[in-house]
Amino acid sequence: IVSVRGLRKRFGDNEVLKGIDLDVRPGEVVVVMGPSGSGKTTLIRCLNLLEEPDTGTVSMCGNQVDCGGRGRSRAAQVREIRRRSAMVFQQFNLFPHLTALQNVMEGPISVRGLRRTEADGLGRRLLALVGLDEKCDCYPATLSGGQKQRVAIARALAMEPQVILFDEPTSALDPELHAEVLQVIRDLAGNGMTMVIVTHETAFARDVADRVVFMDGGNVIEEAPPQRFFTAPAHPRVQAFLRLVG
Ligand code: ATP
Repeated sequence: IVSVRGLRKRFGDNEVLKGIDLDVRPGEVVVVMGPSGSGKTTLIRCLNLLEEPDTGTVSMCGNQVDCGGRGRSRAAQVREIRRRSAMVFQQFNLFPHLTALQNVMEGPISVRGLRRTEADGLGRRLLALVGLDEKCDCYPATLSGGQKQRVAIARALAMEPQVILFDEPTSALDPELHAEVLQVIRDLAGNGMTMVIVTHETAFARDVADRVVFMDGGNVIEEAPPQRFFTAPAHPRVQAFLRLVG
């Protein structure tokens, strides 16, 4: 469903992605781990072209973009890729002047063209799904971090994406709020949602991932199912990382 080949990205002199190949199958949960600065966030932002890679190809649901190129057909492919994927950010990125429900309704109305009443029904259903049916009319400032992130997940689901990309969804939260967000993501995995998740949460990765991809210095240096990744990693760099994080 997602396939990237030879993805490279530099910021000035800093080559952050050095030729990444990655495939994600429908229904698969891929967790991306690795030390700080290894390029995880940049990679996930390149998957939906929020960040423009310098070279390489990104395909999602049959839409392929050759990066570094131009042209009208390319713009259409980028639009399709953005439409089929949704992203959940570290910092939630909710609209502060809209209620929880309005945040979830915004995309369906403005991008998918749903009528207000339809979007309202969808928004309420999705907020109930993430356990926030009581909070529809609350503004983000009055919600806890965990609640804000669950609104952000409901908002992502409202776009009916084929793939959801999570960029460290719990890293801005107090530790006691991690569990409620991770449980929502676990439930999505249980329902067969295709997801790519950047996270430092090893217990969660072990539990939810079909495959763990480990990045170091802009390269993927190991890819394995969690059982093997956490018990018998091949690469010494991964062994050292796992010793550190426990
Ligand atoms: P962390 O776990 O700390 O979030 P990461 O593995 O997600 O790290 P990235 O955020 O992808 O790493 O960053 C990789 C490198 O790219 C870092 O050296 C970072 O400073 C640099 N970088 C990221 N975004 C930009 C940008 N917009 N402009 C310049 N440099 C950037």
